[in-house]
Amino acid sequence: ETLNKIVDIKGTIRVFCRVRPFLWTDRRRIQEPVSSELDRVVVRSSGSRKEFGFDKVFHQAANQEDIFGEVEPILRSALDGHNVCIFAYGQTGTGKTYTMDGTAVQPGIVPRALEELFHQVSLGNSSSFTFSMSMLEVYMGNLRDLLASKPASRANETVARCNLNIQTDPKGSVEIEGLTEVEIPDLAKARWWYTKGRRVRTTSWTNVNEASSRSHCLTRIIISRHGDAPEARPKVSKLWMVDLGGSERLLKTGATGQTLDEGRAINLSLSALGDVIAALRRKRGHVPYRNSKLTQILKDSLGDGSKVLMLVHISPSQEDVGETICSLSFAKRAR
Ligand code: ADP
Ligand code: MG
Repeated sequence: ETLNKIVDIKGTIRVFCRVRPFLWTDRRRIQEPVSSELDRVVVRSSGSRKEFGFDKVFHQAANQEDIFGEVEPILRSALDGHNVCIFAYGQTGTGKTYTMDGTAVQPGIVPRALEELFHQVSLGNSSSFTFSMSMLEVYMGNLRDLLASKPASRANETVARCNLNIQTDPKGSVEIEGLTEVEIPDLAKARWWYTKGRRVRTTSWTNVNEASSRSHCLTRIIISRHGDAPEARPKVSKLWMVDLGGSERLLKTGATGQTLDEGRAINLSLSALGDVIAALRRKRGHVPYRNSKLTQILKDSLGDGSKVLMLVHISPSQEDVGETICSLSFAKRAR
């Protein structure tokens, strides 16, 4: 019975770690504090040695295919009717966007997932699927629709312009009122909308790094599975792919004013997410979904019957070792 429980928990929440390769911008690469093996990361700093275990660790040399190979099973559970959340967590600059979006030559999880969904459809079994997509940004507790025909020009103007209310229906399903949901009948259309959402997100900020470090970007695919009987209602599941805001502690970077407020908002919602995942792992007691917009939105996709994959990103560099330990400690709570 105990064994069963462990297997069950493992199947519900998984935590992977990805170590970014060195970049030319990393300084002090002579002393490498981070070493990784199979499912372990070891960090050495100022004479101490800390070891962290994961369900899986991806070394600096791991490529996008390696990552996606481990993500694929969880995608299949979305097609089987489970709600799924895939998160990229970590300090700014550790490769969250690289993992989720990737580049034209090295596509990340989201474009590969879209391709895989349509591939599964093309294999054609007795039931048929339809997909729809939404993209939104959560910034300072406000939601911003990235696929709206007239998107708000800047995230901090969203209070007046996007009035997206989060509602829970009697069955416990979370609905975001007014959020654009586009049908994606084929892969070409899916890519088109995805590219549009990404463009809206980045062009409304003065620089790309600003957008990604101070807001969360969420892509949602709603999967409807139609049974053989035409009158039967489709079985619906949600697949969330989330590029989280940077986890760095802002007080240390000397941020002030607006930047500090934005940093606080991100840190609060990340710790709210950590609290929810930790409560779910304990499998009993109160789960504090209400503490942030992020966890309210994801409520029906984080609890019973859903699958969660947290991809924690870390830097290999000595200068980031403090943040690396913070990120690994966050992951340890989730796992
Ligand atoms: P984040 O989204 O966490 O702020 P980015 O994804 O923007 O970080 O990555 C920062 C930089 O590092 C980018 O130039 C990105 O291309 C590069 N990078 C990150 N991870 C990898 C990787 N696994 N392989 C190659 N380059 C990477
Ligand atoms: Mg980013």
